[in-house]
Amino acid sequence: MALKTGKEYLESVGQLGLEAHMLGKKTSEVNESGLVKPSQKAVAFTFDAAHDPKTQELFCVESSLCGDVVNRFSHLHQSPQDLVNKVKMQRHCGLGTACCFQRCVGMDAANAIFSTTYDCDAKHGTDYHQRFRDYWTWIQQKDLVVDGAMTDPKGDRGKRPKDQLDPDLFVRVKERRPGGIVISGAKLHQTGMLNSHEILVMPTMTMREGEEAWAVCCAVPTNDQNVRYIYGRQASDTRKLEADLMDVGNSFGGQEVMTVFEDVFVPDERVFLDGEVDFSGILVERFASYHRQSYGGCKVGVGDALIGATALIAQMNGVAGASHIKDKIVEMIHLNETIYSCGIACSAEGQATASGNYLVNLLLANVCKLNVTRFPYELARLATDVAGGLLGTLPSAADLNDPVAGPYIEKYLAANPDYPVVDRMKVLRLIENLVAGAGAVGYLIESMHGAGPPTAQRIMIGRQAGLDQKIEGVKNLLNIA
Ligand SMILES: Cc1cc2nc3c(=O)[nH]c(=O)nc-3n(C[C@H](O)[C@H](O)[C@H](O)COP(=O)(O)OP(=O)(O)OC[C@H]3O[C@@H](n4cnc5c(N)ncnc54)[C@H](O)[C@@H]3O)c2cc1C
Repeated sequence: MALKTGKEYLESVGQLGLEAHMLGKKTSEVNESGLVKPSQKAVAFTFDAAHDPKTQELFCVESSLCGDVVNRFSHLHQSPQDLVNKVKMQRHCGLGTACCFQRCVGMDAANAIFSTTYDCDAKHGTDYHQRFRDYWTWIQQKDLVVDGAMTDPKGDRGKRPKDQLDPDLFVRVKERRPGGIVISGAKLHQTGMLNSHEILVMPTMTMREGEEAWAVCCAVPTNDQNVRYIYGRQASDTRKLEADLMDVGNSFGGQEVMTVFEDVFVPDERVFLDGEVDFSGILVERFASYHRQSYGGCKVGVGDALIGATALIAQMNGVAGASHIKDKIVEMIHLNETIYSCGIACSAEGQATASGNYLVNLLLANVCKLNVTRFPYELARLATDVAGGLLGTLPSAADLNDPVAGPYIEKYLAANPDYPVVDRMKVLRLIENLVAGAGAVGYLIESMHGAGPPTAQRIMIGRQAGLDQKIEGVKNLLNIA
């Protein structure tokens, strides 16, 4: 059994010796950075949960590849129940960390690549599937964290990859050497990359004939010497560097980076698609659907934290009994559970692929994610309404601890006497973090753009809806020939 604890994970990722450009400086040993630590702590949560007797059953599962007990975050789904359990696990992590815990994207990439390589081999006689099985068995047995890297910079959105002024605006095969390929380009917005051991590079969209160089899927270790990282800023991120953590709002956090591949050599055994343009779109579609399902679990868990914080601040403010407050909290619950229902529904309606793993129902997964692009914003609006203006004007932890300012804050921020002022401030900071601070990157901006913006889901919903069947049904109903 290769299940790492959170501590073992942190040690293993620390040994990678990753470097990144952060706030104008090249930083060695990024795991020592106060900006990165909260995000590593969130990933560590997913490892500890596999050892916690309360959650072990949900997080531990028998591998279909090697028979070992592995963490569900590296599992290939073997049934609709596995898909449902994935969503439940993500909800648990969402509430436990109140942020993006960064480990879903690799699981979603692996499941998409597993079935796509199988189908590609069947059509083109390639041997990608066995390569991927070998690679993923190693990942499972070592209990590694994998980043799923799909989003290219894309340059001028109106132009195809080959028509861009710079061909590197989409990751491409630049050169062929004996025993492998050399890739060049970049992936943007990479969640949890600095907390990962490996990267699964995937095409960003459907490639066409003539765009073979950009139809590439492969694995690269995060500590490859030709991979560069540039840290993404988040609102109020430097609060994470302060000694008193109260102003941060949440000691867990997410993290994104720009990842540059500067002529990275990838050996053949780590290449899972190389020029088969007809499978680039299939891979994107499958990854996006798994990832859209994921949002039906993780963002619901963060929503649970926001609802809990809102209900608590209402008690602390002394308004919990007011009918409009109760109604707003019920509305938040309704919106959050609607997202969850879609996550469960697309999982329960999942179907086996030819390769043997299970794929979510594509229509319902896209409905799930489209709701995620809207409902968290409404939840954030309602939380802001209930919490009050202090959300934007609260004095700092340092002022609370100051011998002159502190007593004034204690005096004038006193509300429901059952709760000390310091606790009221903690809850306000958590809500602030999620609706307007660093946590809003994961809860709001990622909800909009992660796994693709709303238009991408609308296109898939239009394609998957079976409109002809509905028209046919109406014609039959009305005896129209
Ligand atoms: C917090 C966060 C975490 C993320 N994590 C990851 C990750 O781990 N891995 C990963 O691979 N990606 C990740 N993403 C990237 C995410 O998938 C993209 O942001 C998303 O697909 C949108 O792409 P974009 O940002 O390039 O925006 P754009 O593609 O520029 O989209 C912006 C708008 O322009 C529209 N648009 C774009 N192209 C066209 C066109 N040709 N014609 C008309 N309209 C167009 C879109 O519909 C949208 O409304 C993350 C994003 C965020 C915000």
